[in-house]
Amino acid sequence: MMSALELAEAGLSVFVFDKGRAGQEASWAGGGIISPLYPWRYAPSITALATWSQQAFPDLIASLNESTGIDSELSTEGMLVTATDEREKALAWGVGLSPKVIEISDEEARVLEPNVVLDETPLWMPRISSVRNSRMGRALRQACLNHPKIQLLEYREVILSGDLDSPKVSSQSQGYVSGRVVLAAGAWTGNMFTGVKLSCPIKPMKGQMLLFGPCDLVNRVVLANGRYAIPRADGRIIFGSTLEDVGFERIPDRDAFESLYASALSMIPILEEIPLEAQWAGFRPGSPEGLPWIGAVSDKLWVNSGHFRNGVVLSPASSRLLCDQMMDRTPIVDPTPYQPWKTL
Ligand SMILES: Cc1cc2nc3c(=O)[nH]c(=O)nc-3n(C[C@H](O)[C@H](O)[C@H](O)COP(=O)(O)OP(=O)(O)OC[C@H]3O[C@@H](n4cnc5c(N)ncnc54)[C@H](O)[C@@H]3O)c2cc1C
Repeated sequence: MMSALELAEAGLSVFVFDKGRAGQEASWAGGGIISPLYPWRYAPSITALATWSQQAFPDLIASLNESTGIDSELSTEGMLVTATDEREKALAWGVGLSPKVIEISDEEARVLEPNVVLDETPLWMPRISSVRNSRMGRALRQACLNHPKIQLLEYREVILSGDLDSPKVSSQSQGYVSGRVVLAAGAWTGNMFTGVKLSCPIKPMKGQMLLFGPCDLVNRVVLANGRYAIPRADGRIIFGSTLEDVGFERIPDRDAFESLYASALSMIPILEEIPLEAQWAGFRPGSPEGLPWIGAVSDKLWVNSGHFRNGVVLSPASSRLLCDQMMDRTPIVDPTPYQPWKTL
């Protein structure tokens, strides 16, 4: 939807197909942290997209809010990282970018998050924000519905066939002709590419989450041992997540529940008193090293997918980069790293 809005704003007419209601898959199921979890672990090409996006988010959310009336609840309270043995790497990574990673004392961290179990020297990332991604999806959907150059066709599964140079799009037995086709089908992208005989490694990586009821126990994103708590504006807490390579198996399970619940209590013990409201699963579009595919696979077939764990944060920059290339504009960043198919 973000790609469609970019392309429509640039003057193109866009048909968006979704096999379900738009914005209900990974973009709904995720956590909405506007940063890779441990950003220092990622390649500079991912940092480049994340940095561009992070600067764009406040205006993007404000303008979606204004045009749709749906508030995506951007929270700019930062992220507290505790229980990591990557302190030196993190601090070195943050140098020169802006004060991205700061070492703070246990006491300072306790003031920020009195209910969280901390280690001696937590890391503080004051510039990291989060959104309520389910609402952001609703806002993007509404923005697409409102846009005169976009037609949103929901509950229309697309079948891609033919080959890369002349891809054929059909849905519900009807063929569609278009100058260019953009594949942005999340975890389903790899499967769809097989229809045009391209081997693509993008595949589902299941992630499960828990939702705790209103409690106001944390004020910002807290990350410990790869698990995170994200507060919502209504006081609820999302706690995530698992990372499972099990194909399109959608059912949330007991093992994930027990593992997540134990992690949640070891981070915020008082959560034991808070009712659990939900558990769900979603499919991240997994890709090697989390590197998205963005650009022209052929003159007719384009792609913007494979954002793995970072598709919310990377979405503004990825969509702009796709649009820059489609409109022959100077790209916001060098597109080469996001085109691994050129070296397959
Ligand atoms: C548990 C979890 C936590 C996460 N946390 C974060 C986070 O904190 N921050 C972050 O940045 N990212 C996070 N992510 C990752 C992020 O959610 C994804 O990378 C991002 O949402 C992917 O967006 P997408 O549009 O590519 O895929 P999706 O949101 O899955 O959308 C793909 C769409 O394609 C449609 N589709 C598929 N096949 C077809 C077809 N044949 N025809 C028509 N339509 C089709 C689907 O119906 C779907 O609506 C998380 C993900 C999960 C699962």
